[in-house]
Amino acid sequence: MLAALQKALDQRAVDGLLRQRRLLDSPQAETIATNNQLYLSFCSNDYLGLANHPHLIKTMQDATGKAGVGSGASNLITGHHRYHDLLEKQLAQFVDMPAALVFSTGYMANIGVLGALAGRGDAIFADKLNHACLNDGSYYSLAEFHRFAHNDVTALEKLLKASNAKRKIIAADAVFSMDGDLAPLAEYLALCEQYDAYLYVDDAHGFGVLGEHGQGSLNHLKLKSPRIIMMATLGKAAGVAGAFVAGEQVVIDYLIQTAKSYVYSTPAPPALSATLSASVELIEQGDNLRTQLRLLMQTLKQHLKLSKWRLMPSETAVQPLLVGSNHDALKLSEYLQEKGILVPAIRPPTVPKDTARLRISLSAGHTEADVIQLAKLINEAERELA
Ligand SMILES: *Cc1c(COP(=O)(O)O)cnc(C)c1O
Repeated sequence: MLAALQKALDQRAVDGLLRQRRLLDSPQAETIATNNQLYLSFCSNDYLGLANHPHLIKTMQDATGKAGVGSGASNLITGHHRYHDLLEKQLAQFVDMPAALVFSTGYMANIGVLGALAGRGDAIFADKLNHACLNDGSYYSLAEFHRFAHNDVTALEKLLKASNAKRKIIAADAVFSMDGDLAPLAEYLALCEQYDAYLYVDDAHGFGVLGEHGQGSLNHLKLKSPRIIMMATLGKAAGVAGAFVAGEQVVIDYLIQTAKSYVYSTPAPPALSATLSASVELIEQGDNLRTQLRLLMQTLKQHLKLSKWRLMPSETAVQPLLVGSNHDALKLSEYLQEKGILVPAIRPPTVPKDTARLRISLSAGHTEADVIQLAKLINEAERELA
């Protein structure tokens, strides 16, 4: 086995697909330290600039003093601290759902929820561009797994019509992580009603950014129904770590009993929940942060003057710049890095062939000047490289 592993790694290196972890020597922020150098970063999902917020740091320190560093046991034994419970109640109220359940990560939430709600004889319908952990949750559930072309409502309806599955769940990212566009969730919900299906929405990139006071994509689209179960991560706009699932009380009660990644896992430390409660308050009061984000999106659009590359349509903090060839995307990313700016190049298989791109993620912590500088360098790079 060891020889086979080495051979696979060598092949990746030959194909230019070997990935390296960048070593970070600073907090996650607009300016980060790595390679003994400072860089302006457009890489993180810290869309509201909360990951290094002084109030959250202080809250974590104080809560650690009161609650210790470890949860010590699973939630169903003695690990369910009052801080965990308060956060769940606060999140349910914030997203205007009957109940919520906190998981340690979004990956665990998706595996846990799909594994608990679907099984043999059921069917999951998934957008082809869904995040990897929705796919893994579907495989793990042992339900039939049907994938449809990105945002294709007609294709989805055909699949639903043909299905005899006992229970049907449509699973979709609300905001697609590498495209920044939204799923047609209103159309999906109408199909759920027509075909007696349920809608599982992963709002990792909409929570905190879209909707009134950052309540997320469902609020943005004014959707509400007992057929909806939502999930959002708390390590992106919320700036900390973890995830939650929200829905009808009976769904949450059922997940507490049956979602294995919840039942058989030690919860994140209670102090983290206390910090998240403070973060949700900052999100709720953070209309100024979202205004700043929207301003930065406009600034980027206004200052990019491109003929070959193009910014993909997106009203979220994820602003992908479509370049096309893997080679050009990599060259552009390297060009920017030489000038002190980090933006990741995203290549297949993460995105479809010939759609390599730069994934520019904006944060309320960026200034207009930061974004203008980025746009100026991309314009120059196109003239020099494309
Ligand atoms: C990041 C992400 C996840 C995973 O969340 P983690 O908390 O990072 O494990 C799930 N779904 C989507 C769409 C994501 O972007």
